[in-house]
Amino acid sequence: MRDIFQYIKLADVTLREGRQAQGFAMTPASCMSFMRLIDDFGVDIVELNHPASSSELHSFIQDAIALPGVQAKLATHVRCVRRDLELAFETGCKNIHCYISASRGGLREARETFKRSVDDIKAVSDECLRTQANLRISFEHTFALDLDFLGDAYLQLADMLAVSRLGFADTTGSCFPDKVLDYVHNIACIVPANIPFHFHFHNDHGLAAANFLALYSIADQLQRELVFDVSVGGLGERNGILSFGDVLSIMYLRNKKELERRFNLQSYKELFDFVRQYVNGNNFVRRDPINPAAFTHSAGPHLKGMLRDGSYESIDPNSFGMRAIYNVINSGTGWRGVKAWIKESFNCDIKEESAKCVAAEIRSLTAQHGSLHEHELEHVIKQYLE
Ligand SMILES: [Zn+2]
Repeated sequence: MRDIFQYIKLADVTLREGRQAQGFAMTPASCMSFMRLIDDFGVDIVELNHPASSSELHSFIQDAIALPGVQAKLATHVRCVRRDLELAFETGCKNIHCYISASRGGLREARETFKRSVDDIKAVSDECLRTQANLRISFEHTFALDLDFLGDAYLQLADMLAVSRLGFADTTGSCFPDKVLDYVHNIACIVPANIPFHFHFHNDHGLAAANFLALYSIADQLQRELVFDVSVGGLGERNGILSFGDVLSIMYLRNKKELERRFNLQSYKELFDFVRQYVNGNNFVRRDPINPAAFTHSAGPHLKGMLRDGSYESIDPNSFGMRAIYNVINSGTGWRGVKAWIKESFNCDIKEESAKCVAAEIRSLTAQHGSLHEHELEHVIKQYLE
């Protein structure tokens, strides 16, 4: 029997998910330094960012791939749409983490989105095979989807040559381990064991580590590779995601010797301290599920979902006397969030085209400088106000 650790792979997402955390800002140069540190630590995969967000992030990904001597597999993260996939191939990145948008519980919408996604994957599959890129496809809100639908969808994806890994995302961090295990067992029965599963656990309700432990405990039964997204300090949107701290603590208790063999634990403090410099200190702790950042939404598609039906809010902030905050100053922001934020902050309507320009400029500037000062932001917005 293989050692249980052999089934577990860690994908660092600090540079993508982490950058969506409120108050976290890194320049491209600091991202490169981070890459060196995380690679020295021995993580299996490093997820870079969205090449479709801005030309600056597209260039950053190309620069990161060109870094000599990196051992970890490097990955990009894109929506499962043809344009994004083509941009991802263009970067030369060999691992493409792709997600299918879904709102919580909307089966009809999920079916339609899936159909479009399959068409888009088919349209790029020759290019995918030619460039030898590996596609990981994951549904947002996986555990809120109908299990029969998910099984049919993942079986269809597993049959596609271009698809090499399937993902499970607890996008609002509200799924309990029993349901996670039920879904994983069911899908594992129908999808061949040579297709690894990839997990993304948010931590809004403190369940991320519990779900990691639940899967870790059955890894030898599943007999397939399990990849987990982790970030330094658990940094991520709202209350963050599964943290290296929790994963390493659990693995340490289970098999300290093997953990020390796999990872350069001595270098972890340097990595942690490095990231801490770029974070608002208050956010860099294991967080209370109702701290103010828990209701801060950042990524463009998430802001869109919030405006549509509150898809990304699994705790009503009003219950605790708080309110949702739209953090539009980040490299993945979108026009709908920007438009709503301008309306709220300046009591001013802005046209769709203008909101798209403001969003693109914010994405570009934050990709270059990490963050924006208030006066810089005002300058960007004032150009487009009516
Ligand atoms: Zn996430």
